[in-house]
Amino acid sequence: MRKRLIVSAASALSLFLAVPASAADFQPGAAGIGDPYYPTYGNGGYRVSHYDIRLKYQPATDELEGTTTILATATQDLSRFNLDFALNVSEVLVNGRAAAFATSGEQELEITPARPLAKGSQATVVVRYKGVPSTVKKYGFTAWHRTPDGAVAADEPEAAWWWFPSNDHPSNKATYDVSVLVPDGNQVISNGVLTGTSSKAGWTRYSWRENKPQATYLATLAVGKFDITTDTTASGLPVYNAYSKDLGENADAARASVERTGELVDWLSGYFGDYPFSSVGGYVPNVPTGYALETQTRVFYSPKQFAKGTNTSVVVHELAHQWYGDSVSVAHWSDIWLNEGFASYAQFLWSEHENEGTAQELADYIYASHPADDPFWSVKPGDPGADNQFSNAVYDRGAVAIQALRNTVGDEKFFKILKGWPTERKYGNATIAEFQAYAEKVSGKKLGDLFKTWLFTPGKPAVGPVVPGAPAAASLAPGARDDVKALVEPKSWKKIQDAHSVHEH
Ligand SMILES: [Zn+2]
Repeated sequence: MRKRLIVSAASALSLFLAVPASAADFQPGAAGIGDPYYPTYGNGGYRVSHYDIRLKYQPATDELEGTTTILATATQDLSRFNLDFALNVSEVLVNGRAAAFATSGEQELEITPARPLAKGSQATVVVRYKGVPSTVKKYGFTAWHRTPDGAVAADEPEAAWWWFPSNDHPSNKATYDVSVLVPDGNQVISNGVLTGTSSKAGWTRYSWRENKPQATYLATLAVGKFDITTDTTASGLPVYNAYSKDLGENADAARASVERTGELVDWLSGYFGDYPFSSVGGYVPNVPTGYALETQTRVFYSPKQFAKGTNTSVVVHELAHQWYGDSVSVAHWSDIWLNEGFASYAQFLWSEHENEGTAQELADYIYASHPADDPFWSVKPGDPGADNQFSNAVYDRGAVAIQALRNTVGDEKFFKILKGWPTERKYGNATIAEFQAYAEKVSGKKLGDLFKTWLFTPGKPAVGPVVPGAPAAASLAPGARDDVKALVEPKSWKKIQDAHSVHEH
């Protein structure tokens, strides 16, 4: 009864607030969503729930034209709002009426609707545009990668600006329909499920749907000539993989790795709980770049990842992100450890499974192989700064921190945390502080000192990631630099390292 009263009081209040305000109360939305590392990324004043991206792309000339329809809800009385975008815009409509627009900064598209948007109201925003994305540089680079037969959009933390206007920050996730018209004989790869293809007058349309919330940087697009493989995993999940037809000597190693996606995603489910999405797979376009990226449901791999032979470790890393990064996404970019620490730790688990070194051996090796004066230790994985967001320390020290957590709470509680967290926070966003609180709740232990030591304090921790009470290896004594040689490099180490060839511009 009490609850009912509260509810009706609240709705009375919102009715009161819905009384039209004077025009002076409508303010422009902020040009950034409030990220400490990237102040202009994302925007304030509204939330996007869906992107409908309809494109026509000519691989021969890199000409892209499109219309993106955005469903948004105003979170304040808005006189104007921004999208993040880099191509030339020809027209913007808001709720069916032409809107004024202008560009500012590197990637801001400022939209002034004909009628201001009241807080809580829904808006349908249509943006028409075109451009040659590979020629458009922002902050000195383009995230649109040309291949011999087409192009790829896959980058972190920014990739969307070159193919669709967006509220470009992981804290505003949305569902997607991506429909692209390409000349017959080309394929289009994107996230989720291929819902249909149709051909007419020399052009083929591919329509993709991602029906679960997805961060903008995890949306991907590739156009080119691919060999496609489809299957279902033992657990019944549809698999869709694609390989550029011109991978040359790397083709077989790429297939021998990525074709194990179904097996590996089922294996990871044992640690992380049910897979959160409705399809899985990867694609290997013939890009010159060296990194892989956990684009949602359809991982992007560079052929260079397979230049030294198969690498199932990188596949494990990117698939682990489907839980740690894609389903549960960072609240701010400073929370990147929640992505990279856990994806790297999944590689430790895979190494253990393959008898190529236990998680403890890998953690000991990382701890011992960096002397105290190594700049490696100056990066705080829990708040690395924008310049070090993808530095080795976020991955390696970040994974050692997770082994330290495992040793502190014990295996039973640790694996409960590992599986419980992505289940509890499915499709949401989270901070490191929230993860710590969750781990404390499950383990019944105060973990403040552990998190502070391993994630938030520059410098080499005085004690390695040892099991409390167990004798530490002599080589792990503080300052034991000469004993590094005594530590044998785990067999899996090089492949683990290869998985985080960094996203550099
Ligand atoms: Zn990663």
